[in-house]
Amino acid sequence: MTKWAVYDSHTRSFGKWIVTVVPLTSVLLLSKPPSWVSAIFLVSSKVHEMRNRTATDKEQSPIFIPWSSVAGIGWPAVPRQFEARILALQYQLDQSQWWEAEALQRLQLRQMEMLLVHAERTVPFYRGRFKALAGLKRVTMEAWRKIPTLLRTDIQDHGQDLVSRKMPEGHGRIREIRSSGSTGRPISVKTTDVTQLFFAALNLRYHLWRSRDFRGKTAKIIRPISSKSQIKPQGWVPGYNSGPMVSLGVTSTVAEQVAWLREEDPHYLFTYPSNLRAILDHCQNNGVELSNLCGIATMGEVVEDTLRAACEEVLGLSLSDCYSAQEVGIIALQCPDHPHYHVQSERIFLEILNNDGTPCGPGETGRVVLTDLHNFAMPLIRYEIGDYGEFGEPCPCGRGLPVLSRILGRQRNMLTLPSGDLIWPLFDSNNLDQYGPVGQAQLVQRTTEELELRMVVKKALKPRDEKCLRKAVLDRLGHPFTLNLVCVDEIPRLANGKFEDFMSEVK
Ligand SMILES: [Zn+2]
Repeated sequence: MTKWAVYDSHTRSFGKWIVTVVPLTSVLLLSKPPSWVSAIFLVSSKVHEMRNRTATDKEQSPIFIPWSSVAGIGWPAVPRQFEARILALQYQLDQSQWWEAEALQRLQLRQMEMLLVHAERTVPFYRGRFKALAGLKRVTMEAWRKIPTLLRTDIQDHGQDLVSRKMPEGHGRIREIRSSGSTGRPISVKTTDVTQLFFAALNLRYHLWRSRDFRGKTAKIIRPISSKSQIKPQGWVPGYNSGPMVSLGVTSTVAEQVAWLREEDPHYLFTYPSNLRAILDHCQNNGVELSNLCGIATMGEVVEDTLRAACEEVLGLSLSDCYSAQEVGIIALQCPDHPHYHVQSERIFLEILNNDGTPCGPGETGRVVLTDLHNFAMPLIRYEIGDYGEFGEPCPCGRGLPVLSRILGRQRNMLTLPSGDLIWPLFDSNNLDQYGPVGQAQLVQRTTEELELRMVVKKALKPRDEKCLRKAVLDRLGHPFTLNLVCVDEIPRLANGKFEDFMSEVK
């Protein structure tokens, strides 16, 4: 038996792991490669002791070996093609994060040129849209800013014209992602194997930035999954052997989630900020401790400072956040050393614009405009995602990746059940236009029993439409509320200009 220690710089806690090294011969006899590789790093049942212990020797940091695909070879690992590509990207990301901002932008411009040429030639929507670049040998930032921005309504209304008619080689299969985002009307975006690969590599960067211990157990409480609780045996770290990952649908009540967390006893928890807040409140009000947790990660919504403070207070942990969107993947990751975010410039070109379309300087709030540098199936060039943000000054950590000091995006209210339990409302992923002639829609909880679905309709609803809409919404929420359908001319935005598709008036 070998004793190893682990230091989690994120949570500032030391812990000791006890790792059992299984005799090689018995592993070879009992299991088929490549599972024996992970057996070398088999974590004993003592894994839950990783917290609250004191390390005596920092030199004994755990070593993680990538997943090996060749029988009998565990170290150095020989990965499969997909994993090898993730690691090849990670190798580059590891270096580029330290490059100067100017060098990163120069390389982004070269990548943007390739995307523009492809889009102009093969994507009908973009034909004639890059007039500002005519005659230029190289794309300059000045010329780039003259390209009109792409709105969500453009994707909704011209989705097919945004799809490339001729894909270059090597981008792999094309997938479709549907996102309802923050406007209440869904969009459909095509992505590729290559964009998935970048997602995996950035996901790996995220784990490395947070110094997460790959042997830990991870729990995700996110979008609905087919069964109420799921275990993903292959782990949670792209390209590496890792501990198990368990998932629970976010539509479970908060009390159910906390009971599940107590049972699963994970080291890491990934969920939405609004859901985390409800979990923290529940833990605090009921004196529940989740003592095994050593890392909390959020995504999908804005994280308020008050949530960070509540996380510290209730769980004694600082949370880490990832700014992402379904249609483009990871946009920015929280700096390992600071609360602000670093734009993932190797993947996304992010601009923040004033109302007149000029770029905002540090400290100025403006519209977030994104360019996905690698999606050649459906190029999103200067895409106005609907969020607002603010650039910060360069980060003292030394990374050249631009700093986002603030993101003002979507925030969710929680849905209150008649019992008083809170659940994350599964409304935004529901594509209402499938059930009736509905444009924009907003769900408002008036009381613990009654909800109102406000809709801007394209034509009068028939009784059948009403029945289908009512069923679709209530099925997704999973509870038999009274649901009133109300047709309106317009759904007002919030004071900050954002659209909220679920509001709760329950105090
Ligand atoms: Zn930093």
